Amino acid sequence: MAYGRVTDRELESIRGIVGTERVSIGESVLDLHGKDESFHQRRRPEAVVWPLSAEEISQILMFANERRIPVTPWGAGTSLEGNPIPLEGGIVLDLQQMDHVLELRNEDLQVRVEAGVIYKELNQYLSRYGLFFPPDPGASATVGGMVGNNASGIRTIKYGATKDFVLNMVVVLPTGTIIRTGTNATKSSSGYDLCRLFVGSEGTLGVVSEVTLRLIGLPAEFMATLVQFDAVRNATDTVSQIMRSGLSPAALELLDRQTIQVVNRHKKLSLKEKPTLFLEFHGMSISGLKEELELVKEICAEHHYLRFDSGIGREERNRLWEARYDVREAIKVNNPGFSPLVIDTAVPISKYPDMVEWGQKILGEKGLKGYTFGHAGSGNLHMEILGNPEDETQWQKVKGAEEEIVHFALECGGTATGEHGIGIGKKKFMEKEHGGSFKLMKQIKGLLDPNGIMNPGKMFE
Ligand SMILES: Cc1cc2nc3c(=O)[nH]c(=O)nc-3n(C[C@H](O)[C@H](O)[C@H](O)COP(=O)(O)OP(=O)(O)OC[C@H]3O[C@@H](n4cnc5c(N)ncnc54)[C@H](O)[C@@H]3O)c2cc1C
Repeated sequence: MAYGRVTDRELESIRGIVGTERVSIGESVLDLHGKDESFHQRRRPEAVVWPLSAEEISQILMFANERRIPVTPWGAGTSLEGNPIPLEGGIVLDLQQMDHVLELRNEDLQVRVEAGVIYKELNQYLSRYGLFFPPDPGASATVGGMVGNNASGIRTIKYGATKDFVLNMVVVLPTGTIIRTGTNATKSSSGYDLCRLFVGSEGTLGVVSEVTLRLIGLPAEFMATLVQFDAVRNATDTVSQIMRSGLSPAALELLDRQTIQVVNRHKKLSLKEKPTLFLEFHGMSISGLKEELELVKEICAEHHYLRFDSGIGREERNRLWEARYDVREAIKVNNPGFSPLVIDTAVPISKYPDMVEWGQKILGEKGLKGYTFGHAGSGNLHMEILGNPEDETQWQKVKGAEEEIVHFALECGGTATGEHGIGIGKKKFMEKEHGGSFKLMKQIKGLLDPNGIMNPGKMFE
């Protein structure tokens, strides 16, 4: 498709909408908005614009749509699949100045926020009222970016992903029309669920300017456990059994031996370099949590744990979980010159042990170095496979491993991406994963964005 360009004349019109201060064509600004946290190549936009309202977004989209100028929404740029990289140039709409909490309705457990609010800051604010927004992608992401990718994280296993918390949204369509999807009711059978259509659409259908989120009361008591095993299969079989036992962990994470090794080095810890599970439980009373702990220990014993360490309360949780944080940073710092390709498959829980085994077998066969970790209780496997995209032969091997690992997940009835989204990297798996409904997705895209201006080159080949 031939796209319009942002020349001086277009810049003049954009400045006419938002003023001169909130438009930039500065080199460093364009560079910053041309790359996310993935290995995918930088591609600069032609201009970056910081809107302050749905009305401004609407005017910019109307203008861009008339001239067929590509528009890519931008949250904090922490994606891992190239999701916000403006592949066709054009305008990047950076939502970070729309960062206000608009309304807290604590009696309804709901909050209405602008899309640029950083979820960690939102949770700090909410904690004063004994509330929180559970999806936790770790990085300093915006609520809009979490909606874009349907992000989740370590607590999804108990509470759900972003899609489970969005009650309603203000969305600006590519033509400039402003709509509200959803209501303030926590359940509804009314019509097509348009909130779910926009959540996970990666900025390809419109720009989210405002989101009303459902909230959860902060748990009264915490319990955490760290368990180590001799073999990764013992750890993953334990995960599968815990999830079938009626227990309801708030988090259940796996780190393999290599990952513990790199975290030990990075954080100067001295954990045994063995496959490790990190568990967290939330409850109303310590006695209830202790009962859960007994059952967890019994299950871990059946799988021959080497070490079982547990504690009650926030401080104990932080002590036991220290090695789980900053895993990606630890891998990056300890492997200079390499760019990891990130696996994000998710499978039904009974298939999780085979999924992990398969991934590690493929790396072994291809002689590749990688780290295995992830949100095991949700059946979500992350592997960071090391390689250098500039070394053609090696990178082909890395991509070959990715193909084999993702195809295995799809054959298990799983998905190519549990939480990072499609972006650029996982487009090639869409057809196989979705079959006939992929065509319907393309038709929906064509209906909402007939000129294809929204985040072009993503999701579809
Ligand atoms: C160290 C690290 C750890 C991570 N861990 C996790 C994890 O555990 N779980 C997880 O899910 N993710 C994880 N991520 C990935 C990333 O943080 C999430 O995908 C996050 O939701 C991206 O948010 P963002 O604000 O940075 O969005 P961006 O990266 O800026 O954008 C994400 C996508 O949404 C679109 N978008 C942004 N704002 C809007 C808007 N207002 N309206 C419409 N579309 C919009 C963009 O065009 C893009 O396609 C991790 C990333 C890093 C760097």
